[in-house]
Amino acid sequence: TRQIVLAARPQGWPTPDDFRIETIELPELADGQVLVRNTAMSVDPYMRGRMNDVKSYVPPFRLDEPLDGGAVGEVVASRSESVPVGARVLHGLGWREHAILPADGVTVIDTERVSETAYLGVLGMPGLTAYAGLTAVAGFREGDAVFVSGAAGAVGSLVGQIARLMGASRVIGSAGSPDKVQRLRDLGFDAAFDYHDGPVADRLREAAPDGIDVYFDNVGGEHLEAAIGRLNLHGRVAMCGAISQYNATEPTPAPRNLALAIGKQLTLRGFIVGSYSHLADEFRGRMTDWIAAGDISVDETRREGLDAAPQAFIDLMRGANTGKMVVTL
Ligand code: NDP
Repeated sequence: TRQIVLAARPQGWPTPDDFRIETIELPELADGQVLVRNTAMSVDPYMRGRMNDVKSYVPPFRLDEPLDGGAVGEVVASRSESVPVGARVLHGLGWREHAILPADGVTVIDTERVSETAYLGVLGMPGLTAYAGLTAVAGFREGDAVFVSGAAGAVGSLVGQIARLMGASRVIGSAGSPDKVQRLRDLGFDAAFDYHDGPVADRLREAAPDGIDVYFDNVGGEHLEAAIGRLNLHGRVAMCGAISQYNATEPTPAPRNLALAIGKQLTLRGFIVGSYSHLADEFRGRMTDWIAAGDISVDETRREGLDAAPQAFIDLMRGANTGKMVVTL
């Protein structure tokens, strides 16, 4: 079977040479273990941080060892009574065609009513990130005007749609191309702009003439500075990601207007989705209902085959995806 290992730690932007495909023999299953044939895997921005040799909230990937990450697949051999052959499961050993895990390391999923890749996106980690970040971290309230960056991506497209469903007075999104901006309008965003079209602060002023109450930050840098400038009294920021900085080789500038947070009495709150697992059931229930009612549209960009995974990851960092980027195997 084949797997992808980290061949080198990327310096700045990752390149295909930072990855290598290896063929290995699968070991025998031990008691309590299952063998999963992976059918789809996730590539996510947070994986870029794990490619650096620095301590963070998740340990770094190891050189010459397989990468890992969210994946779904079918159990093809089992030495556990709780997870039989044929079960469809979600687990954390992506970047490989087959995975061996203890039965309690997989979650059995229902793929009759929703697609299996939904568990990597809208019903999975990115979905919970959007929901928990908006409700619990930013303390969203009905009537808030919400701005989200990275708005055409996996997390951002859900943030905007959830805010609209929960009664936002105005939903504004930014993204990196005219097609994505059009998509945001189709998704029901009240205003959307391409951040390449001049200073973000200017575009945001036009899009949010009455200011914003919540900023859901996926991007950092100039976007965060623009949002701080536009936030109303008691405005709140959910600091989710700073993808504009992930491939930087030099320290990046902080928002130059941070002192505005004093007079406006802003709250800027960073968060990690893993700390919000207590909201997972509530989230899944509401999201399942929204999807069933046709209230949420789910975008996905698919690449095919394990060999395509490194490029899918690199392209994700460059914005090739609309919605969740997944690799089918
Ligand atoms: P996305 O689907 O949003 O994909 C990444 C997107 O980032 C690209 O499509 C691209 O879109 C955009 N992007 C890349 N470079 C820039 C740039 N310089 N400026 C602005 N946008 C850029 O990924 P996810 O939805 O999975 O993740 C979104 C964010 O949320 C990331 O920052 C990620 O790290 C963070 N995150 C945080 C979690 C947490 O627990 N805190 C959990 C999950 C995700 P475009 O074409 O618009 O540029």
